[in-house]
Amino acid sequence: MRWMRNKEKAGQKSGKEKEEEIAAACRLLERHYGGLKAVVKHWTPFQTVVATALSARTRDVNTAKAAKQLFANYPTAKKLAKASVAEVEKLIKPVGMYKTKARNVIGLAKRVEKTGIPKTISGLVELPGVGRKTANCTLVYAFGIPAMCVDTHVHRISNLLGWVETKTPEQTERALRAIVPKKYWLGINDWLVKHGQRVCPANRPKCGECFLNKLCAYGKLVV
Ligand code: SF4
Repeated sequence: MRWMRNKEKAGQKSGKEKEEEIAAACRLLERHYGGLKAVVKHWTPFQTVVATALSARTRDVNTAKAAKQLFANYPTAKKLAKASVAEVEKLIKPVGMYKTKARNVIGLAKRVEKTGIPKTISGLVELPGVGRKTANCTLVYAFGIPAMCVDTHVHRISNLLGWVETKTPEQTERALRAIVPKKYWLGINDWLVKHGQRVCPANRPKCGECFLNKLCAYGKLVV
């Protein structure tokens, strides 16, 4: 991609300069997209972990459709634990890998029914179908615990901004943990998802009208 080819030209920054730019960008993101109220009020913590597990390799609109259909029929761990695989497959068909995910969310419901939802990454990744992304996002959106929830928007835009130089979301998560002040962790996912949807979509970022363009490694090259 163009941003991958160009990022080397953006120049190297000292740790201090980078830290100041990241903090300045976070303040602008907060001003534009709202405060650090990451917890999703309309879903329970159980629904949040299930919806996030459904979202892997799936467009937001399809995740929302599948989650709505699933929770209309099985809103709790107790109910979903007793569901048939065929019925859950039918309800979550809009998401990618729905057959595997149907088995995983039923298994997840059975575990949560017995032990509750862990509030640590190490505990969450023990649940069926829960990787680091789902674990981090569950802490943020189910419990309001600061964590680094890295989806495709966060991975792509934090590379464009020059905050990280990484190839996978897992690398990005670890790199961002090291450089983003913890007081911004709750907001990062929400802010960069909104920024990706409104201003900086993949392959056609609107750098000319972006409020981050003076703080963005890629934006500085093209504006
Ligand atoms: S300047 Fe804004 S729109 Fe352009 S790449 Fe950077 S964050 Fe995306």
